[in-house]
Amino acid sequence: MAEHTNHAWRLRSRPEGELADGDLELVSEEVPELSDGQALVRTQLLSLDPTNRIWMSDIRGYMPAVPIDAVMRGLGVGEVIESRRDDMPVGATVSGFTGWQELVLADDAQMEAPLTVLPDPLPAPLSAFLGALGHTGITAYIGIDNANLKEGETIVISAACGAVGSIAGQIAREKGARVVGIAGGPEKCAHAVDKLGYEVCIDHRAADWADQLDAATPDGIDVDFENVGGPIMDHILGRLNIGARVSLCGMIAEYNTYNPGGEHSGGLTNIGQLIMQRATIQGFLVLDYGDRFEEAIGYLAGLLAEGKLHYDETIVNGGIASAPDALSQLFDGSNVGKLLVRVSD
Ligand code: NDP
Repeated sequence: MAEHTNHAWRLRSRPEGELADGDLELVSEEVPELSDGQALVRTQLLSLDPTNRIWMSDIRGYMPAVPIDAVMRGLGVGEVIESRRDDMPVGATVSGFTGWQELVLADDAQMEAPLTVLPDPLPAPLSAFLGALGHTGITAYIGIDNANLKEGETIVISAACGAVGSIAGQIAREKGARVVGIAGGPEKCAHAVDKLGYEVCIDHRAADWADQLDAATPDGIDVDFENVGGPIMDHILGRLNIGARVSLCGMIAEYNTYNPGGEHSGGLTNIGQLIMQRATIQGFLVLDYGDRFEEAIGYLAGLLAEGKLHYDETIVNGGIASAPDALSQLFDGSNVGKLLVRVSD
């Protein structure tokens, strides 16, 4: 086999607050010769997700924290370039936990989860398998389904133009709901209305965003598809209708400071409204719904084929070296739609 050098980001220290220089180190490492049962994958696209920041912290999470000195965990898609396993021939396209690295040793015994071989030919552009037809699209589908959204109801979706929110908004519109978005800045809000089918979108950077949200939901809120947490979620809780459902997908406003049991920033003062309004809140993780991925992808692919699903991508073309800087886009809101790093062509 040819000699290969991998470039990978290893976690050297746990960030305090925002990810800082030195928390991760970019290393060059020789790839060992393949053994039977192994394949070598060249990462093409790396998905950046808010949960990457959670995985860096040693907290009570849904997956173990990335160990110090390990390659940073991450989802990606790539191409098999060498193989000594029958189920992963050279040229196959795979997806899964590639990590923040250029070359992945696909060895099921050593990986957190095996990589999945994607269909050949691909029914949609490769990037869609990390977005609209990947884990973020499926998250939107499951989160709306869990909320039992009905025609004519008012749903509010925060991070409305993000990877999950943008798809959730369009599914909600398909279901005949009145869809209210919350996003950062006038440009994103215009995009939400013009391209994503939101009836109205509130700019949470405006000083009077809470008043605007009240005005946009004169009959209260039946469903909250919650991506953000913090003061936005708190205000929404204060406007829930009787029998409302909160589909608790994420709380990105807290990921840089999250510290269960300790001091953190996002106290909810309106949580008691769940009692007054006999409302329910359901946290969910897309990873638990593996048995419904096919159903979700089928639904989303159908919308796409009918021209009813618009999806956006922000692709950073800086190679693997750009991953840590690019991650900050999720926290400062400079991404629109699914945030990806192009690692190789
Ligand atoms: P997005 O593409 O939505 O990017 C994050 C967006 O969040 C930013 O663009 C920004 O949008 C907004 N944002 C960031 N910080 C704040 C803040 N302090 N206040 C308000 N808005 C903020 O990311 P994803 O679609 O990948 O993820 C969205 C949410 O879904 C996250 O909370 C994530 O953890 C969660 N998630 C949950 C899953 C599950 O299984 N439960 C699976 C996948 C994602 P803006 O410019 O509009 O402010």
